[in-house]
Amino acid sequence: MTDTLFPPRATPVVPVNGQPGFPVARIFCVGRNYAAHAAEMGQEVDREAPFYFTKSAHAVLLSGRDMPYPPRTADLHHEMELVVAIGAPAGDVSPASALDAVFGYACGLDMTRRDLQAAAKEKRRPWDTGKDFENAAIIAPITPKDAVGPLGGLRIQLTVNGLVAQEARLSDMIWSVPDIIADLSTLYTLAPGDLIMTGTPAGVGPVGPGDLLEGTIGALDPVRTRIA
Ligand code: MN
Repeated sequence: MTDTLFPPRATPVVPVNGQPGFPVARIFCVGRNYAAHAAEMGQEVDREAPFYFTKSAHAVLLSGRDMPYPPRTADLHHEMELVVAIGAPAGDVSPASALDAVFGYACGLDMTRRDLQAAAKEKRRPWDTGKDFENAAIIAPITPKDAVGPLGGLRIQLTVNGLVAQEARLSDMIWSVPDIIADLSTLYTLAPGDLIMTGTPAGVGPVGPGDLLEGTIGALDPVRTRIA
């Protein structure tokens, strides 16, 4: 065995309904995938191609745990999203075969330090400090795809303290799950363990200590957290 200076950091593992857990490798996130959210951010949708940013696997917070209010922000936002869990390699695949790479689906929250993201956008700098920080990728248990069925008609919803903040249908996504996988697979060779956060509907907004967030998509396991 090779010596290491310190123990390698543990890989986050997301629970799977009825099966062993899903060890997380990379987290890809789609920007502006719902027209109404792009509009509320003051942006036009680029219909030429989707765009992406990433989060470290170590940004994962399992659903059900409290999210400590993060440092260096006064504007922590929720973004409720469908998460796609990749279970088979996919390099340069077509939309027609893209779903072969999918293991399952989950509810997730792309938590965002909106003030840091906005400052970065203004200066044309990377978004990392606004998007990729500890506990910023909150992931609910994964449901294998065969138990989910067609996605398009499913409702995606987020409540904050019981009040509806975000609501849409997955069919409102500009880039469908097969479209996203096909495009992303031309940039990266997707592999088991990768997660894709597919973008958020309109209604994003600030949360603070004590707020209870609960997100649902059809019959998938809800994503839940309390801001601590
Ligand atoms: Mn997002």
